[in-house]
Amino acid sequence: MNKPVLTIVVPCFNEEEVLPDTSIQLSNLLNNLIDDALVSKGSTILFVDDGSKDLTWEIIEIECEKRPFVKGLKLAKNVGHQNALIAGLETASKQSDCVISIDADLQDDINAIPSFIEKYWEGFEIVYGVRGSRETDTYFKRTTALGFYRFMNRIGIKLVPNHADFRLMSNRALMELFKYQETNLFLRGLVPLVGFKSTKIYYDRKERTAGESKYPLKKMLAFAFDGITSFSVAPIRLVTLIGFLALVISLIAGGYALIQELLGHTVSGWTSLIVSIWFVGGLQLMGIGIIGEYIGKIYQEVKRRPRYAIEKDLYSSHVKEQHQK
Ligand code: UDP
Ligand code: MG
Repeated sequence: MNKPVLTIVVPCFNEEEVLPDTSIQLSNLLNNLIDDALVSKGSTILFVDDGSKDLTWEIIEIECEKRPFVKGLKLAKNVGHQNALIAGLETASKQSDCVISIDADLQDDINAIPSFIEKYWEGFEIVYGVRGSRETDTYFKRTTALGFYRFMNRIGIKLVPNHADFRLMSNRALMELFKYQETNLFLRGLVPLVGFKSTKIYYDRKERTAGESKYPLKKMLAFAFDGITSFSVAPIRLVTLIGFLALVISLIAGGYALIQELLGHTVSGWTSLIVSIWFVGGLQLMGIGIIGEYIGKIYQEVKRRPRYAIEKDLYSSHVKEQHQK
């Protein structure tokens, strides 16, 4: 096998504080990989600026000048982590044999990357980075994440537990991934659907070196909800089930009330009336809400809006230059 051209794709949103360090660390790593003859000399690091409001893009430009391996892609506006990632993957795939995605904050251990490449050499097309320990995450984040994976598994969405978007994919696997043209991207759910020979590498997740998490609770909940409703109709089924149970209960209660009435034990009936109105009303609202969520998804999907727009591309131009030489 020839040495593969590797591109490390790094989505960045307001990451001015961590970027210089990330750039140095990844460059050193890539240097070592090239020295160890694990990847080809044409390998690069691609920073994708996801419409940052701070100096992220300026820093990427400076790093591009300073370091030969570093390349940049500037998106026209903020489109979110998943879309920024697919933008980077699509751009990188044009000129790479394999692509590794990693977050800009380097919470995922870059020292796991050489093992990713070794697995690629062994013939694996997808290598999932899996967090062996999450001690540096808050207790809250750990328990909610665990609950999330369990729940997803329960309703039939097979995720790789404790795997975020730190993974290697071969070009072949990427090409298959790109065929999934959905607007609501949830890559962690999609990649396992692609298939191919895959494996896991365990590593320890570290503290964010600088800057703040771009995933506050609100975004995390939205992400989890998206993940569920993009992959499963289980919530709608659950609502149907609850509705059916409610119907059975109200029939029994109704029968009981009727018997009481016939026996002459007239009860005021006010309490049960109010309770059932609220109960059924609540159920209906819940059901409508969940159905609405799916209809919203369908609406977004049928519009087929583009997932991102590229404003500046310092990656493909570098590739063209190399070809001209
Ligand atoms: N990110 C992005 N666009 C966004 C939000 C985040 O490209 O709208 C990037 C961010 O720069 C980082 C990665 O996605 O590289 C993961 O974000 P973060 O580290 O804040 O999430 P956490 O690790 O806390 O889940
Ligand atoms: Mg992070």
